Amino acid sequence: MKVSENLANINERIEKACERAGRKRGDIEIIAVTKYVSADRAQEALDAGIRHLGENRDDGLLEKYKTLGNRPVWHFIGTLQTRKVKNVIDKVSYIHSLDRLSLAEEIEKRAAKADKQMKCFIQVNVSGEESKHGMEPGQVLDFVHKMKDFPHILVVGLMTMAPLTDDQNTIRSTFRGLKQLQQEVESLHLDYAPCHELSMGMSNDFEIAVEEGATFVRIGTALVGSR
Ligand SMILES: *Cc1c(COP(=O)(O)O)cnc(C)c1O
Repeated sequence: MKVSENLANINERIEKACERAGRKRGDIEIIAVTKYVSADRAQEALDAGIRHLGENRDDGLLEKYKTLGNRPVWHFIGTLQTRKVKNVIDKVSYIHSLDRLSLAEEIEKRAAKADKQMKCFIQVNVSGEESKHGMEPGQVLDFVHKMKDFPHILVVGLMTMAPLTDDQNTIRSTFRGLKQLQQEVESLHLDYAPCHELSMGMSNDFEIAVEEGATFVRIGTALVGSR
């Protein structure tokens, strides 16, 4: 399938979800997750009108960066090893996987060197699944307050992954839990943690995520395909 055809289908589904939830389509950005596909296919997504691309490994990002450069807005969406931060810091606009203090320390150091403020999502393990990365919901407020001492990190929002399940209620309550936390942080009105954004929803659950308040959905398979 052409990316443009997939995108038309996804856009229609997002619009319907917006109608159901009384939201504006303009408040939701699609991140095309290109980790499974070639740079050519990523270019096709850009030609179809996509502006945001997401990669979950530093080597995948670097390879596509070579061809695509700064044309897309790059998002780092995967687990980020501390020693890999230096490879991505000057290329990505957003990191979605801030989940520990040691990572914040490294991002702070590298962002300071690159003379930029890094926009970060705190990744939260809302569902409590062992296999999921992210910090426990109960740790988030404490962590946010610590970011006061990290002037090169801007906490723009929270990110989560729903459990792999067909149970819509479980998925929905995961997204709802993240939204609740996001509102708590937002209501603190911290200049270093505005926290207006919610990064949630993938190929299988983006409609529920939109209904529950996602501002960035991260879509790979349904948009650009998988290997
Ligand atoms: C791979 C990945 C996605 C996209 O997954 P699809 O199911 O292919 O849409 C989204 N977010 C993260 C963190 C990922 O690793």
